[in-house]
Amino acid sequence: MEINEYHIEHMEAFRIIGELSDVSGIISSESLDGLVDGYIDFRNAVDRFLAGYFGDVCTERCFRNNLSACCSREGIIAFFADVAINVMQSPQSEIDAVMAALARPNHGSKCVYLGENGCLWRVQPIVCRMFLCDSAKDAVFSKDKTAEKIWSELKIRERFYKWPDHPTLFDAVESAYIKNGFDSSLMYFHKSPGLVMVKRRAGLES
Ligand code: SF4
Repeated sequence: MEINEYHIEHMEAFRIIGELSDVSGIISSESLDGLVDGYIDFRNAVDRFLAGYFGDVCTERCFRNNLSACCSREGIIAFFADVAINVMQSPQSEIDAVMAALARPNHGSKCVYLGENGCLWRVQPIVCRMFLCDSAKDAVFSKDKTAEKIWSELKIRERFYKWPDHPTLFDAVESAYIKNGFDSSLMYFHKSPGLVMVKRRAGLES
């Protein structure tokens, strides 16, 4: 069995960012370092929140009882900027592990990146990290309104970095690579009709 298009597209994005380009140089050339730092602060805040409020719920419901609907096979969109930021933050050994997983056909029902010790990404795709199932949200938010408020604030911060009705980090990372002659099918902020429409409506060039 050959690897499929999903694996090939992701491998190519990791190869562009990891092997063919100087990711820090390209990010710096567009003065995006400060935004990346702010994004990492945001992601750390998300990690603290999830560990503090959802660690027990997710462990009990999904992992111990095998109910997990998360991390299903090819169930997520990874943006090009997700890959770039993950490569920036990861040691080469972790990127090698990601590439090795992508080089193998996935016969299972779970995400190709799900290893024995969890996700192989150090900075997981934003879509994954900002997903909470209804059952987990009900369990926590029905008892703790402070947690619900913090989650709402984190969702607003997520939009700042990625929803393109204003200039965003995720769009700018793609633009920086395009300017340097690279192309990837994961550049959804330039290729997805829906996201391009949001940008056009906001008066932003696509
Ligand atoms: S990338 Fe990681 S967090 Fe996202 S679905 Fe795959 S294993 Fe799960």
